[in-house]
Amino acid sequence: MKRQSKVFRKAFIFYHRLYQMPSSLASIEQMCYYTARQGESCARPIKIGSSDMSQKLTRKRKRKTQRTITRAVTHIRLIEANPGKLEALDELMSAYLALCQQYITYFCTEINPDKYTTPLFETELSDRWHRVTIQQAAGIAQSWRTKRHAAYEAYLEDLADWQRAQGEEPDSKRVEPTWNEWSIPELRVPCIQANVNVVVVAHSTDSMFDYWLRISTLDKGNPLRVPVKLASYHRKALEGKALNTSTLLVRRKGFWWLTLSFDEDVPLRTDPAAPSVGVDIGMANFLTTSTGEHYGSVHGKLRQRQKRDRKKRRRKAKLRAYLKKKGCTKLPSTSSASGQRLSRHVKQSINRAVNQMLAAHPQAHIIYEDLSVASMRFKARSMNAYLSASQLGHIPKQLVWVTAKRGMAAHSVQAAYSSQECSHCHYPDRANRPNQGSFRCIVCHHSEHADHNAAVNLASRFGDKELAACKNKQEVKALLLSRHENWKQQHRIVVVDPPAQLGLWGDLEASTGLG
Ligand SMILES: [Zn+2]
Repeated sequence: MKRQSKVFRKAFIFYHRLYQMPSSLASIEQMCYYTARQGESCARPIKIGSSDMSQKLTRKRKRKTQRTITRAVTHIRLIEANPGKLEALDELMSAYLALCQQYITYFCTEINPDKYTTPLFETELSDRWHRVTIQQAAGIAQSWRTKRHAAYEAYLEDLADWQRAQGEEPDSKRVEPTWNEWSIPELRVPCIQANVNVVVVAHSTDSMFDYWLRISTLDKGNPLRVPVKLASYHRKALEGKALNTSTLLVRRKGFWWLTLSFDEDVPLRTDPAAPSVGVDIGMANFLTTSTGEHYGSVHGKLRQRQKRDRKKRRRKAKLRAYLKKKGCTKLPSTSSASGQRLSRHVKQSINRAVNQMLAAHPQAHIIYEDLSVASMRFKARSMNAYLSASQLGHIPKQLVWVTAKRGMAAHSVQAAYSSQECSHCHYPDRANRPNQGSFRCIVCHHSEHADHNAAVNLASRFGDKELAACKNKQEVKALLLSRHENWKQQHRIVVVDPPAQLGLWGDLEASTGLG
């Protein structure tokens, strides 16, 4: 128990839940969105975009000698020096949340998210607060739209793929991909992403407190002044740093929490000529490198816990359905404390795996796949549960963040067919994967661990402009097939069809026997 709380503290408090660089507002707003969705104090945004976009970013980053990252100092509790004060904040929050939700729905369903849109809804909030609300809602909606779009595109590609396959040779076992429309994001945890127009952080020089927060409230011309007292580890983290003007206020379990942030320049340490190491992200092994090592997994104890948790969820869901049918109005909740604890522990083991992997390759370009977890689908339902338990999406985020923090170079590359392509002859085929863990090429019979094969492919995709230019999966497949043809041309003499060879020997034997 003591050890656990120590780990927890390290991961969530002392370690400062830090989020990744772009100091643009959008990413910080995305952070709030994750906060709201995951019930966490702060999380890093996922970088999502087309592969061409990430390639552009990579190119731009390569020329830089340093990178600016934003570090957050979280879990600063606001002191209830005067209870009335925080009640005013509660009032503000309820008006804020209601308005924010209206804009989120509006931006997700009616128009494209726009931070500068003309205020539309009636509210008791001031114009400044109204603008802050619109900005936060636009960020959340933009992030939702981008991810939904990526998932929908992936669905369309899957569908086209399925239709083509059914046209060639009908297979009743392969189920037609279906699309379930996403629900509109909901702000559940009260969270305000404020800027200097509404919340000012000022150093306190004449009191026992470290800062004063000046928050404008519903009561015009009468701002709230809330004292902030830092813990020693907060103070240490903030020593000599210039604070950013944006602040995050979260209300959880009856308390108000503040997050402050500051920018830091990290020099890029990776030599441009350093070798590149491909990293495959997976479920059986969190990370597999092209050099053949595996790091972390959800096997063993974690897997057992995940299975138990899944059973519990299913029982609860059944009970809910039953009660609903009976006309019960108060239904049992779907979230479970043990499930949340489990997901935290999985994240911790992911972080450990990332640290170990990077420690083993301190001087290398880390090449990872531009992976969209939202678009991943598995035939088996248990596989879906496994996927969410292993929290695949957290792995690339953590990889990007830790490399940025250490000044290491990380580049994302096209992910399509990286697990189906043969690293020897480039032949891409579903049939190359007889099962989840192994790879066996049906053309050149090259066989090895499936994740290692994928990592080797990823490493070789770094700097591959032809592949990066592919707009969709079909184009990638066509390119890989043409490369396979080239390979066949070059290896024509080496690869001999086995039956012909046998026939030849048989004839020879027969002739010698006769002679
Ligand atoms: Zn092959």
